Amino acid sequence: MTAYKIHEHSYDMVVVGAGGAGLRATFGLAAKGLTTACITKVFPTRSHTVAAQGGISAALANMSDDNWRYHFYDTIKGSDWLGDQDAIEYMCREAIPAVIELEHQGVPFSRTEDGKIYQRPFGGMTTQFGEGPPAQRTCAAADRTGHAMLHTLYQQSLKHDARFFIEYFALDLIMDADGSCRGVLALDMATGELHLFRAHGTVLATGGYGRAYFSCTSAHTCTGDGGGMALRAGLGLQDMEFVQFHPTGIYGAGCLITEGVRGEGGILRNANGERFMERYAPNAKDLASRDVVSRSMTIEIREGRGVGEHKDHIFLDLTHLDPADIHEKLPGIAESSRIFAGVDVTKEPIPVIPTVHYNMGGIPTNYHGEVVQIRNGDPDAVVPGLYAIGEAACVSVHGANRLGSNSLLDLVVFGRAVANRASEQIKPGMTHRALAADALDGALGNLDRVRHASGDTPTAVIRDRMQRTMQADAAVFRTEQSMAEGVEKIREIRNGFADVKVSDRSLVWNSDLIETLELQNLLGQAQVTINSALNRKESRGAHAREDYPDRDDANWHKHTLCKVDDAGNVDIDYRPVHMYTLTDEVEVVPLKKRVY
Ligand SMILES: Cc1cc2nc3c(=O)[nH]c(=O)nc-3n(C[C@H](O)[C@H](O)[C@H](O)COP(=O)(O)OP(=O)(O)OC[C@H]3O[C@@H](n4cnc5c(N)ncnc54)[C@H](O)[C@@H]3O)c2cc1C
Repeated sequence: MTAYKIHEHSYDMVVVGAGGAGLRATFGLAAKGLTTACITKVFPTRSHTVAAQGGISAALANMSDDNWRYHFYDTIKGSDWLGDQDAIEYMCREAIPAVIELEHQGVPFSRTEDGKIYQRPFGGMTTQFGEGPPAQRTCAAADRTGHAMLHTLYQQSLKHDARFFIEYFALDLIMDADGSCRGVLALDMATGELHLFRAHGTVLATGGYGRAYFSCTSAHTCTGDGGGMALRAGLGLQDMEFVQFHPTGIYGAGCLITEGVRGEGGILRNANGERFMERYAPNAKDLASRDVVSRSMTIEIREGRGVGEHKDHIFLDLTHLDPADIHEKLPGIAESSRIFAGVDVTKEPIPVIPTVHYNMGGIPTNYHGEVVQIRNGDPDAVVPGLYAIGEAACVSVHGANRLGSNSLLDLVVFGRAVANRASEQIKPGMTHRALAADALDGALGNLDRVRHASGDTPTAVIRDRMQRTMQADAAVFRTEQSMAEGVEKIREIRNGFADVKVSDRSLVWNSDLIETLELQNLLGQAQVTINSALNRKESRGAHAREDYPDRDDANWHKHTLCKVDDAGNVDIDYRPVHMYTLTDEVEVVPLKKRVY
């Protein structure tokens, strides 16, 4: 093995990731007096959170009757009852102070006439426990809410005494023999030097793994590095079969057209000009939840009512909306449509297609953000020293299907929760226990292998095979046959990683190496996703099987926990869904059929 010079740092806490979740945790921890390092592979304000458009949910009741208990109910129904009800209670109650806090920190929310935070309708958000009219619950800064939030959160971080390590790539977790996390090893991409961050707590806030698919709305940096590190540390990932397809990605380009467009009155139409969602979801129509709308669109296309030359997409029509309203509330999507689809939204419909958008699955945690695994029969056993938040985590508040605008919410609520929890457990300046002599061997060995990989297959070729397989075989609709083929193909593709070719041997700005490490992380998660999907023999939320069209609560009302080792061996276990609440301020929502 190459002998590397390693810079050593000791902090109370280290956060990996500077998106909405990582930044909220970072300044929360610093504010509690804990020495905190934040490592990020891209400049903080370039994290994918910056691209979020539609908004952040909270039952502020500024524009309609509302109550956090309705939000709680909607989120459970949206999750198809796979979400943990204690965590959902926590999130929906905390949503209100969390959004007010963001406002006070400086997020420039859009306003109502009387100066309150503007709120728009979003899919699946209703009132009166699903019986009332749609709720106006999603707080928005025009259609650039994530941009506004991320910049505000970064400014807040700078106000506090946190230390940023920007353009550092986290390679692997440093785990103890007893299974606790002791920090992380990272590569400074500019100099090629290695840095060991020792910490009492490590927070993974690395975002989603949308790039396992060919067509997705997420940034090229969304490669699930946290999940990859967790798998290499021998941890299981939860509910990875649940991948959200957003109904409205721009056909061809993949970039997102926010659900806020339908919230503001946009309508989906098929080749006959028909508003087909009236047939599939008579009440919620175009604002049914995302899995329902994506499936309805796919059926329209399959049955020959798609639009365009190949009848393979759908139109999103805004032409009946007031151009002044579009200009004020949806300026960003008007611009994206012009650039990426060549469409003037005031005159023509936007060509759209369901596109991979969000990963409900991830590193399992409790509502404090502590990572949990099954140990000695305890399904909620905490992994000491390890936390996960944001899209990298599975709390699980989104269950089998996330409601739009609940993710920006989960970032700030659980980012803050981690800071609260860690400050209870860790006292500033506690001494660090010595690391075992071989503590870094795994991480360095992996880096060495990838760096010197001298096979015959370029990284881009393996990545392309993986993305196409996932797109075809772990799609909106799934069958035993396609997924079984997908499992085999992904296994072969992953084995093919042994033959990867990295041509650049240097360590300075080696994008070849970084992309290959990212591919390695993606491959593990692709494998977990498709194996978990094949394993789950029911339809629930985003997981829609043609051969098992119904939800099967008797056998499948449980979380999947899936591990895969380096040799590609897959191990699947289950955790119970938390069907209890934290307090008696709200009642458990019992299982029932999910109709919109
Ligand atoms: C186009 C788009 C629009 C969306 N709109 C909305 C919306 O309106 N409302 C809503 O609720 N949700 C929305 N979502 C979902 C939501 O924005 C994301 O789930 C959320 O922003 C993810 O935030 P995060 O902090 O978990 O991760 P990210 O914002 O993705 O940040 C990940 C961070 O981890 C760092 N990182 C990753 N790997 C490494 C590594 N190996 N080493 C060091 N650093 C690393 C990155 O540098 C980055 O800072 C949208 C998503 C997309 C793609």
